[in-house]
Amino acid sequence: MSADTTARAGTGASATPRVSQRALTIGFVLLLAAAWGVLPDFTITLLNYIGLHALVALGLVMLTGIGGMTSFGQAAFVGLGAYATAWVCTAPEVAAALSGLPAAALPWVGLALGLALTLAIAWGLGAVTLRLGGHYLPLATIAWGLSLYFLFGNLAFLGGHTGLTGIPPLSVGGWSLADPRALGVVIWALLLLAVWALHNLLDSRAGRAIRALKGGRLMAESMGVDTAALRIRVFMLAALLAALSGWLYAHLQRFVNPTPFNLNIGIEYLFMAVVGGSGHLWGALLGATLIALLKEQLQDWLPKLFGMSGNFEIIVFGLLMMLVLQRYAEGLWPTLAAWARRAGVVPAPRRLPAPAALPARTLPPAGTVLIEAREVTKRFGGLVANAQVSLQVRAGEVHALIGPNGAGKSTFFNMISGVDDPTEGEVRLLGEPMTGRPSRDFAARGLGRTFQHVRLMGQRSVLDNVALGAHLRGRKGWWASMFRLDRHEEAALLAEAMRQIERCGLAEHADTPAGALPLGKQRIVEIARALAGQPALLLLDEPAAGLRHLEKQALAALLDQLRREGLGILIVEHDMEFVMNLADRITVLDFGTVIAHGTPAEVQRDPRVLQAYLGDDLAVGGAA
Ligand code: ADP
Ligand code: MG
Repeated sequence: MSADTTARAGTGASATPRVSQRALTIGFVLLLAAAWGVLPDFTITLLNYIGLHALVALGLVMLTGIGGMTSFGQAAFVGLGAYATAWVCTAPEVAAALSGLPAAALPWVGLALGLALTLAIAWGLGAVTLRLGGHYLPLATIAWGLSLYFLFGNLAFLGGHTGLTGIPPLSVGGWSLADPRALGVVIWALLLLAVWALHNLLDSRAGRAIRALKGGRLMAESMGVDTAALRIRVFMLAALLAALSGWLYAHLQRFVNPTPFNLNIGIEYLFMAVVGGSGHLWGALLGATLIALLKEQLQDWLPKLFGMSGNFEIIVFGLLMMLVLQRYAEGLWPTLAAWARRAGVVPAPRRLPAPAALPARTLPPAGTVLIEAREVTKRFGGLVANAQVSLQVRAGEVHALIGPNGAGKSTFFNMISGVDDPTEGEVRLLGEPMTGRPSRDFAARGLGRTFQHVRLMGQRSVLDNVALGAHLRGRKGWWASMFRLDRHEEAALLAEAMRQIERCGLAEHADTPAGALPLGKQRIVEIARALAGQPALLLLDEPAAGLRHLEKQALAALLDQLRREGLGILIVEHDMEFVMNLADRITVLDFGTVIAHGTPAEVQRDPRVLQAYLGDDLAVGGAA
């Protein structure tokens, strides 16, 4: 399978000589390394600041561009990292308390303290503010950015607004890094290491889960992702990168005061990430470079232009950001990458080892009750969306839930998949009461689902989207992914995804961005994604909508095959011909109440159904 994707990744060849992205990256690093010794001091200083800023922007790319959470407050975390080490290295009380340690060890204690403080504060802030939706989260980040900034300026032991001076240079194994050129090697090494590790992270099971966050919680949770915990982790990661940058900054600058950690700078970091391309790791480097160069120029020019000094560049940044985003909504990196592709740069083929074995679910025997709703009622204020609905879906059957728009079908789906709890009544999945449990618990117990309004990661390939469905069948976490210790499992997850893609007739689209497919096909991608989780029960909300006749037939054949394999399928569908030909049993909802239940033949004969609203439909579609 990996050979398959590899081959496809390299197509689109032209006469231009081709060079892989990896070769280009290595070339860039070697060039930087070779030039490092001979570049003028001025350039080294600039590159050091670019490196420090890029570290922070890298965290923001993960947080904002990939995880979908906006933060204006990253500068405060840089400050935490800087102040922690500054205090440890300069405070007499610390020197007294740690008198047993050599002086050269103090910066490392400072680093440990800075990272620990940052973790604790980011965790606390994240737990409180990441629950906030919409515009509240960015506002909260402004609030904490301001608070930490004023805290730095007002704590006497941190030197107030004058700050702390006399911070010693770093030294590693007796080597002093007092020279900015020497410290710069560390800065850039850490930055490139971070890019590499995060690149690996994103290209893994854990990375797919992070990307899924951006599409909202509903979809990610249904794939088994604990979104609340994951959001906090991504937030802590971004904060740690900022604190690391602050630590390096303190030992480069050798003094700290609150100014570089204020809200302005927090906004600048966001500029870097967004202008560079907030969905792309290298966009952080591009953005940091552009903003650094621009700031240089503007700080020279603007005061001359206005005839007075001030932070005018922030105004220009704001205007420029608007202009850039008008033209390049995704930032500049994708444009640069497109140029590179045209010049013959191709992605390095994905090389994966032999797949490991994935855990397999033994399906319950045919006839087993998979999901059972007992007199489930759902009220929205005064509206009764579901009134005492009872329904069972058994292994090896297709059960259809039909009814006109607004009958309460989607509401019912939400209650039997953990999205929402019933007001009254109970839902049992494989015999277990599920009240109060999140969707991911339903997924873990064998429920796979699709959505009425398709929820895919539109820019990611079909393969990637379907592999997300197998999330719960993998175990490898962040560390394993960052250091490439997950490759056997990843190969297995992708192989499983490819199997489901082929089975659903999507093989030729495996590498297509899911959002580029017609809507009907996207629905099939959702089915493949659900199947990758090896469910015992499949919930499909209008899977045939938008499909052409032949595609509907293929879908019916697939569902029939799944039924014969022992899956239970609950389907909401408006196409009566499709439903009547496929379903073993049908439940009819009207105004939230079950008005009929039985085989397709029974339901079609039921006077209440005919009379209530289905008469016309059945006369046309069901008679066939
Ligand atoms: P269907 O999927 O059968 O078209 P729904 O389950 O979406 O129907 O809706 C059933 C009824 O419940 C509708 O009247 C709808 O307006 C209402 N409803 C659904 N969700 C909510 C909600 N979150 N808040 C208030 N009313 C809702
Ligand atoms: Mg609906």
